[in-house]
Amino acid sequence: MMSEWTTDDAEELYRIHRWSDGYFGIGANGKLLALPDVDHQEIPIALQDVVDELRAQNVQFPVVMRFHDILRNRVRQLNEAFASAIAEAEYQAPYRGVYPIKVNQMREVVDEIVDAGKAFHYGLEAGSKPELMAVLSYDTGEEALTICNGYKDEDFLRLALLGRKLGRKVVVVIEKFSEIEPLLRLSAEMKVQPIIGLRIKMRVKTEGRWSESSGERAKFGLTTSEILNAIHLIQERGYGDAIRLLHFHVGSQLSDIRFVREAVQEAARIYARLVKRGIPLSYLDIGGGLAVDYDGSRSSSHSSMNYAMGDYANGVVYAVKQVCDLEEVAHPTLVTESGRAISAHHSCVVMRVMGEIANDANPIATDPVDGEHILVTNMRDLSVNLAEAQNYQDVYNEATQVMEDALSAFKLGVLGLEELARTETLYWKLMRAVAKGLETAEFVSEDLRNVEALLGSQYLCNFSLFQSAADSWAIQQILPVAPLTRLNEAPSRNCTLADITCDSDGRIAQFIGDQGNRSMLPLHPLEAERSYYIGLFLTGAYQDVMGDMHNLFGRLNEAHIYSDANDPTGFYIEEFVHGSSASQVLKVMQYNPEAMAGQVKAMIDRIVAKGELRSRDGVKLVDFYESCLASYTYLRHPDLGSAT
Ligand SMILES: *Cc1c(COP(=O)(O)O)cnc(C)c1O
Repeated sequence: MMSEWTTDDAEELYRIHRWSDGYFGIGANGKLLALPDVDHQEIPIALQDVVDELRAQNVQFPVVMRFHDILRNRVRQLNEAFASAIAEAEYQAPYRGVYPIKVNQMREVVDEIVDAGKAFHYGLEAGSKPELMAVLSYDTGEEALTICNGYKDEDFLRLALLGRKLGRKVVVVIEKFSEIEPLLRLSAEMKVQPIIGLRIKMRVKTEGRWSESSGERAKFGLTTSEILNAIHLIQERGYGDAIRLLHFHVGSQLSDIRFVREAVQEAARIYARLVKRGIPLSYLDIGGGLAVDYDGSRSSSHSSMNYAMGDYANGVVYAVKQVCDLEEVAHPTLVTESGRAISAHHSCVVMRVMGEIANDANPIATDPVDGEHILVTNMRDLSVNLAEAQNYQDVYNEATQVMEDALSAFKLGVLGLEELARTETLYWKLMRAVAKGLETAEFVSEDLRNVEALLGSQYLCNFSLFQSAADSWAIQQILPVAPLTRLNEAPSRNCTLADITCDSDGRIAQFIGDQGNRSMLPLHPLEAERSYYIGLFLTGAYQDVMGDMHNLFGRLNEAHIYSDANDPTGFYIEEFVHGSSASQVLKVMQYNPEAMAGQVKAMIDRIVAKGELRSRDGVKLVDFYESCLASYTYLRHPDLGSAT
């Protein structure tokens, strides 16, 4: 017997507690909740309430929702994890993490991270000139580090040295031997003492998608002999005491803690040996890589991780301590450049399902008609056959055959268009009946399982995969998806998600399942009166800043949300940032929207002059074109009216 669907079933299906690290959950009323303020989990925010508030302000979807309290909490968790690992291990130096802004450079995001990090002397990392310019504009405090990675030209180096002039601890990490000479020359010229870091090319090979970041052929870093030569050169030029940091980065999303430990051991050994040679190193920077459990499986699969944040901190601290104690060198200040783990959880993309693309939508009448083709009759008879005998496999096989015959007959001109349509409609009806029967069948063959896939529908969602979930397309990254409401109702439609780009790759057909991934996600049937919103979660790292100009959709509307224990809804929207308008994305591609409007107006004027259109109506068309230029690029929901 099928029992009543509860929110526990929804939890089991969408696995919200598994992937959300406690930041999201399900309310008794079937609403998806954000629990961003870990100190006030009794004050949840229903995401649908945020949607309703935005709708009341005529905001168009999709919208990125950013929960600033989650960002703050991540910063705190990471710093506290290291602090407690350090205390427990009696490690003799502190932790001084930095946030690499490439992971999410949004000003509001960096503002929040910097503010939350103040108490921990948490710093920032930049990998390019514009990033360094952004980073230098923040006051992270005297103790915090500013780390410069990536290839550097003279301007980049000058910017870093400018930071030194401002009294900041800016570390220039040497990625390439040829960066040394200009750095030292510019330091002398600008009369500042640089802080030099050396990036080592690690031997340890990590598995996974980012494995190219380590190993012999890594793009960045110095080999052992280059390190020795670099040190020699720097000392010769009189800057030996500026060499303070040793850096490595073996890749992002390190799913297996074994690799973290191995890499840290290798680096700690190099660190210790260099210190023993009299190099005044005092920082060991282990780069990024702290993973996010996107699929909630707590495994070493690509979209997961087989450890918790605390295990990571403990693993790093103990590994460094052990090597340094054996080598009898002082413990280095530990630096990590964890980006993904800081920013992934704080944002989600909320979109509305615009409609369903089903194979059997809009069927035509299939009642018997005089003189119909035998193939149509055969297909209809199979339904009777099925109802009587419930022989699903036979009926499925025969229906498939009849459908193939019908197509051949159509190609030969034997079957008419209408008859083909009727055969098709009967076929889909039959497949639905088979699927229904299978729900209670004891054994379902592989063939018959295809029926479910055949009947799956696509929910057309108002978003661009390329803009909002680039990794889902580029590297098959799994991102959690769940509806914002109706979690207390059984979801009866098996769906894949299609975006609104005209690219057939613009779809999501990989979802979290309880045993590995599933190709379809059960969602609720769409209803005319109730709009249905779904969320794409854990998009705060790399995804929501990596967007592109595919189909000229551009950036999304954004709501910046704070918890508020004194507000009945539990939240307030601190800031709303408008996404791209059509004219903004067109300008990026070198169009001139004003000139475009002028040209359209000239064309309309000509038609008016010929007397084919009234002036009044011509003006309306021009106004409409102009208002479309000023509007959001995504689909406008019918209930919001037209652009004028
Ligand atoms: C990308 C990058 C990071 C951030 O890595 P995460 O896996 O997001 O923590 C840190 N350091 C360097 C050098 C990077 O290139």
